[in-house]
Amino acid sequence: MLGFRKAPAQSAWLSLALCIKKQMENYVNHLNGSCLCGKVKFKLNSEIRNVVNCHCNFCRSHSGAAFSTYVALPHSALEITSGHDSLHSFQIRGVKKHFCRECGTPIFNLNDKYPGACMVYFGTFERSRDIFPQVNVWCESRLGWIDSLPSLTSVGRGVEEKARLG
Ligand SMILES: [Zn+2]
Ligand SMILES: [Zn+2]
Repeated sequence: MLGFRKAPAQSAWLSLALCIKKQMENYVNHLNGSCLCGKVKFKLNSEIRNVVNCHCNFCRSHSGAAFSTYVALPHSALEITSGHDSLHSFQIRGVKKHFCRECGTPIFNLNDKYPGACMVYFGTFERSRDIFPQVNVWCESRLGWIDSLPSLTSVGRGVEEKARLG
């Protein structure tokens, strides 16, 4: 009986594993992104290898955010599918930032330190909710308040809601 019971359980696990594998394949094969105005669109033709939070001062200035989250992958795997004319770049200190000149959204960086790789800005992905960072780098420059984010007053939407709640 025990063996009989085990068989369906293993089968269920196998089904689940296959289902997850299929989802991951779909996920990898259909990872698209775009800028805010929608002129520049891209897709990734590669597995996602590294999703990184970088807390360095340079990334802070580069992105305009408290820290920068990006997907690192081979540059050859990034395919710009539309908006080539809108994609402009700015180079500083060995980093070439590519952005949409219509809406200003940063799309990806090339860094002389990592030849052949590109760093795609996390916020440009359609399915950013499905992508999870794996590592924090340059933590010696990390802003102190980032560790206390969960303890901040948090509301579902904008500051208007905060004002209403008092
Ligand atoms: Zn744009
Ligand atoms: Zn950085």
